[in-house]
Parts: sequence; C-alpha cells; structure tokens
Amino acid sequence: MPVLVMKFGGTSVATLDRIRRVAKRVGVEVAKGYDVIVIVSAMSGETNKLVGFVNETSPLFDAREYDAVVSSGENVTAGLMALTLQEMDVPARSWQGWQVPVRTTSAHSAARIEEIPTDNINAKFAEGMRVAVVAGFQGLSHEGRITTLGRGGSDTTAVAFAAAFGAERCDIYTDVDGVYTTDPRVSPKARKLDKIAFEEMLELASLGAKVLQTRSVELAMRYNVKLRVLSSFGEQSDDAGTLVCDEEEIMENCPVSGIAFSRDEAKMTLVSVADRPGIAAAIFGPLSEAGVNVDMIIQNIAEEGRTDMTFSCPTDQVMRAEKALSEAKTRGEINFNELIADKDTAKISAVGIGMRSQSGVAAKMFKTLSNEGINIKVIATSEIKISVLIDRKYMELAVQALHDAFELEKA
Ligand code: ADP
Ligand code: ASP
Ligand code: MG
Repeated sequence: MPVLVMKFGGTSVATLDRIRRVAKRVGVEVAKGYDVIVIVSAMSGETNKLVGFVNETSPLFDAREYDAVVSSGENVTAGLMALTLQEMDVPARSWQGWQVPVRTTSAHSAARIEEIPTDNINAKFAEGMRVAVVAGFQGLSHEGRITTLGRGGSDTTAVAFAAAFGAERCDIYTDVDGVYTTDPRVSPKARKLDKIAFEEMLELASLGAKVLQTRSVELAMRYNVKLRVLSSFGEQSDDAGTLVCDEEEIMENCPVSGIAFSRDEAKMTLVSVADRPGIAAAIFGPLSEAGVNVDMIIQNIAEEGRTDMTFSCPTDQVMRAEKALSEAKTRGEINFNELIADKDTAKISAVGIGMRSQSGVAAKMFKTLSNEGINIKVIATSEIKISVLIDRKYMELAVQALHDAFELEKA
C-alpha cells in the first residue's frame, strides 16, 4: 500500500481533544488506502518546560542527559496518539526513536539522522497494522544513547521517514495553513504562498522562519520528498497548504519571496586585535571548538597594524563565546583590548531566487530601513538573500516596512 507521512506539531497535539481531532484526519487517510506514518511532537510548551528543568538543575549540563530529558515529551504524545487511534478501531502502535531505531550521529542536542531501517515497521504494516506512530525529534547514537535533533527536529524526523519509506507525500500539519511571505504573527499583511522553492525555504528556515526546521528542507531537497505545510486546525478541507518544490515548478519570479527574522542575535566586537596572517583562524577556531555558531563576520580596515573584528552569534551563546575568547587570550593566541557584546540585536533577511537576475534589491532594502530611521549594524549577502543586523526593538517595524516595500502582500 502507498505510504503517507503526517507530522503533527506541538499545538496540533496540545490537548487530548486536539489529539482526537488530528487522529480523525489520520483515519481519513487510512480509509483512502494509505499506510500512514504519523510523526508527533511533544504537546506545545512541554519541550520548553523540560529544557527549563535541565537549565535549572545544571546550567553547564551534560548534553547526553539533556537529550534524555527533553526527548521525553514526544514519548507521551506518541503513546497517546496510538491509543486514540486504537479507540477509533484503527490498528496502530507507537515507536520511540530507539525502537526503530532512528540512527543518528552523537552530536547531542543537534544530532543528524544517519539511517532509518524500515524492516521493523514494514513487517507490522504487512501484518495489518495501518498506522505507525513515531516519536519525532529523537534518535539513537552509536554509543547507544538517546539523542535529539535540535529544536523543531520533528520536521526532520518526518521528512527522513518519508525518504526512507518512499512515501507519496510528507504532510507537515501545524498551526498556520502554510508558508507565508513572513511570519503572520508579526505582519498581518503576510500572504500565504501556494508554492515555495526548496532553495528559498532553506534560506527562510535557516534565517529564522521556524515553520520548518532547516535540516528537514535540506533532506526533502536531497531525496526529492514531496513536502507540504498545512494547518491541522479548522475543518478537513481541500486546503492544499504550501507545497515546497523545485524552482522550475514556480511561475512567478519576484525578486523577494519572503522576509525572515531571528530575534535572538548578538553582535560581538573584539576591539583592537593584531592585523596579521592567521588572526581570523586564531579567533574563530576556539569559537568553533566551543560550539559557538558564528554567523556574520566583518573585519574593519586596519590602522597601525590593529583592527576590530565583529561577528554575530545566537544570544544564548554569548557566555560561551566570551569564555572561549578570554581563554585564547590567556593562552597568548590572540590579543584584544576589549570584547563588546551587544545582546539586543535581531537579524532581518530578504530572500528570493529572483535576486539572482534582478539588481537593486539591496539598495531598496537599505533605503526602506533608512526611511524608518533604523540603523544597520552588519550586512551579509549571498546569491539569494540579504541579511542585516539591527536593534531588536525595531524588528517588527523593519519586517513590516520591508514587506510593504517589496509588495509581498500582492500575488
Ligand atoms: P509546530 O509546533 O507545528 O512545529 P512551529 O511553532 O514550530 O509549529 O512553527 C509554526 C510557526 O512558525 C507559526 O505559528 C508561525 O508563527 C511561525 N512562522 C515563522 N515564519 C513563518 C512563515 N514564513 N510562514 C508561516 N509561519 C511562520
Ligand atoms: N518538541 C521539539 C521542540 O519543541 C521538537 C519539535 O517540536 O519539532 O523543539
Ligand atoms: Mg516546529
């Protein structure tokens, strides 16, 4: 029988009532003749609560135990979903990641899926089971420890299962009815897109649009998974949500397709470092070893052999960055007068494959921000995106102004 993957995010399984409602949707697909693999997230708020427990117990926690704790939210919903389906006379059972097993790397809290054996679940399908409910977000390391895939990781579990089982489609059910030109919570004018190209979705996700985890888009692109984002709320309708697809399938060609933002960015400046060969390696080597995700980097022009080096990283990694750099200074590998951490910044990005062929997008973006009196602190560009770092208090204003300037509310 054809296989369908249906993933339900936290808000879609937030209460027993919501679980019953989405289980009905699963029942509809089973009645159509599909064998269904359901991937569930933890009930909304649950993972945040578990992360809070870990931080309070042990601020510099052992990541293996962090994973043991935070993966548990999904175990609850997987079991409850299987029970709900059984109550509806749909033959179903649950799997935790280790039981499949979803084999991952050992990078705790940010593990990558390496392999998903299909024999175990397929054998059950062959025996007449119709729904395999799998706990998302979790896996098993080579060392036999429980791992998690990073926040939002159930999306990636879903796409990886769709690829492994050759599913006809991977449907991501969430609390919005598709991918929008920007987060509809920030801009009321945000418009739902019928289709979005993999490359654009990849950029939007990695630049902060949390509707899909970045890695899930990467996997869908690599394994050609038919990926849809749609709402689990409202009536079961023909609403097709948003299809994430190849760029060739999209007719419109606007320079900007969407605006993404990331609220928790910090701008770090090393004041007066020696301008010599190897200085970048001496700074960014220790940061990388400390697990700091450096994003944008600028090195200013040097004066009398000294220069300032600025980079951005997530706000919650500032302490780790400070520690790594001061230790490198103590070891004599780098020297700087001061390390300034500006923790109140946000990153705003305009994304669009149309940028490849149309010029003037950057100029328009800068002009729009300047009209609003917003100062740009750092700029980074690539072929299909332009990102700027600004004061966090202007984030919403910037998103709305750019959404207007690029006329994204119009189809
Ligand atoms: P789930 O719990 O279902 O995984 P998430 O909270 O992870 O849901 O992702 C859905 C949320 O992503 C939406 O509620 C929305 O606020 C946010 N979001 C950010 N950018 C976008 C966008 N461009 N389009 C749609 N939703 C977006
Ligand atoms: N429950 C996990 C999280 O909140 C995984 C997910 O929802 O995708 O990050
Ligand atoms: Mg999510």
